[in-house]
Amino acid sequence: MVDLHGQYLKIKKEVDNAIQGVIDSTSFIRGDDVRQFQDELSDYMGVKHCIACGNGTDALQVSLMALDLQPGDEVITSPFTFISTVEVIRLLRLNPVLVDVLPDTFNLDPSLLEQALSDRTRAIVPVHLFGQCADMESILEFARINGLFVIEDNAQALGADFLPEGGTAKKAGTLGHLGTTSFFPSKSLGAFGDGGAIFTNDESFGLRAASLVNHGMERRYHYNLVGVNSRLDTLQAAILRVKLRYLDDYHRRRQEAAAWYDTTLSDLPGVTVPHRSSFSTHIFHQYTLQVPPSKRDALRQWLQDKGIPSMVYYPGPLHLQKAYRDLGLGEGDLPVSEDLCRRVLSLPMHTELEKDQLEYISEQLRFYFKS
Ligand SMILES: *Cc1c(COP(=O)(O)O)cnc(C)c1O
Repeated sequence: MVDLHGQYLKIKKEVDNAIQGVIDSTSFIRGDDVRQFQDELSDYMGVKHCIACGNGTDALQVSLMALDLQPGDEVITSPFTFISTVEVIRLLRLNPVLVDVLPDTFNLDPSLLEQALSDRTRAIVPVHLFGQCADMESILEFARINGLFVIEDNAQALGADFLPEGGTAKKAGTLGHLGTTSFFPSKSLGAFGDGGAIFTNDESFGLRAASLVNHGMERRYHYNLVGVNSRLDTLQAAILRVKLRYLDDYHRRRQEAAAWYDTTLSDLPGVTVPHRSSFSTHIFHQYTLQVPPSKRDALRQWLQDKGIPSMVYYPGPLHLQKAYRDLGLGEGDLPVSEDLCRRVLSLPMHTELEKDQLEYISEQLRFYFKS
């Protein structure tokens, strides 16, 4: 699904030098590279504050902690996402309120927000799934009218542009009160281990988040908040500084691969290629087809027999997971997400896909539908 080794080989010298530099400095925690990476990433994002942390899950947790919500407060989010989004809401004793997604973009359906609203609703966590923005214009407007916070889970769309009609482009993750991302190795900006970051244009949220990731420390051994230990280590920051310089190239490579898949697969019977929203660019963290549910597993097997990996993101919506049964939702309650879980199939998508590989993958998919 990804080729992290091939990607590394192309930048080996720079990465190896960066790693050696950190080892020579022995400044493994809160070293210079961390501060420099934060500055460079906030420049890239066009955001005032970037706070690096241990992983994308912690970035979400710390962002929620920065809002200072009370146990029992409700946070609206998507059931069609990675578990972290809902997990951190639960861990903080807040109540996740799951709202179904749109069948074409897999992102939160803004028309369902009104019916999810209660007098305990405090925040919305839209997820920019698979590489493109949720409908932020509608979500931000709803949040503004109802006095809600917005935290964008931008683990999958780092670098995507939100393009409001008639407005100027802004990066996904910089539109809400806070935004988060992940540097998990397979994400679009992947570290050589875990990492994450929080973005905000609000100085007080920025200061709180920076303190929270470091035990709530104000200055050395003085604690104003109950925090966590979640820092990006210097080695990862040094590696990410190198890779950030290639991020737009990486996106171009992914977009070229996606365009190839689009042109070769869009006429297959019963197959839907990814929808592209008018208000967002798509960085194709995943290239996800929708296929007839009755054919999906056989198709996966067929591809596997031809040496082609594919994945189902996600095989089950979060409201049907055992750990979240007490949310009180069952089969049929979030029908779009449930249906998508039966239809989606993600193809290999990464920066090292060559023409002959793409040709082979499309050809095998076409054979399957002809046979
Ligand atoms: C990867 C991911 C996360 C979590 O990031 P980690 O760095 O693995 O903790 C959160 N939300 C979404 C949508 C993700 O894809």
